[in-house]
Amino acid sequence: IPSLSLLYKLRKLQPPSVAPVAGATPNHNDRIGLIKGDITTLAIDAIVNAANNSLLGGGGVDGAIHRAAGRGLIEECRTLNGCDTGDSKITNAYNLPSKKVIHTVGPIFDAIRPEKSEAKLKSCYKTSLELAARNGIKTIAFSAISTGIYGYPSLDASVAACETVKEFLDGENGSKMEKVVFVTFEEKDVRSYNMTLPRYFPPN
Ligand code: ADP
Repeated sequence: IPSLSLLYKLRKLQPPSVAPVAGATPNHNDRIGLIKGDITTLAIDAIVNAANNSLLGGGGVDGAIHRAAGRGLIEECRTLNGCDTGDSKITNAYNLPSKKVIHTVGPIFDAIRPEKSEAKLKSCYKTSLELAARNGIKTIAFSAISTGIYGYPSLDASVAACETVKEFLDGENGSKMEKVVFVTFEEKDVRSYNMTLPRYFPPN
């Protein structure tokens, strides 16, 4: 059964409960932020790319990251032998202002089995955070994984993202991460995060 938010998306409507909200804030609280803008401009320890299984570049945010990083990134990605859906791999950032890029492969949204997509999407956030912690990364910016070409409903995706980030921050490696920022280009994602963030993270 397709989720309610997918149905709204298909009808190009927003859920009726969505009221106009204040814009994104990079300091939702000390450890969580939301930015409406271009992830390739962020000078942060790591940005998380919504890659595909080949890790050889694609459209959307993946294309933007490869364009901004330059040839070095694709050359390093070629040595990685791809990446499974739900898994993550780390590279240098080349011409980007961030220190590292974490490439994670989100699921193509499956409206018949949304719970399978949800498990994979949560795994993207979990494996990215674990990889980041192992690599000494203290500040990380996530793109809105799977919510573009891969069709994951924005509101459901924000819930999966927040739930997984909260679990990580509350867990044994959580204290290693100082700041997690959600980054999106799109008003629909900003609205979703503005509804979901306060449910998981107390605002400042
Ligand atoms: P996926 O294939 O995982 O769905 P997409 O790249 O198609 O990934 O979309 C993920 C999200 O990233 C979309 O909301 C898209 O608008 C957004 N996006 C595209 N380019 C950028 C960018 N430079 N910075 C931040 N977000 C971006």
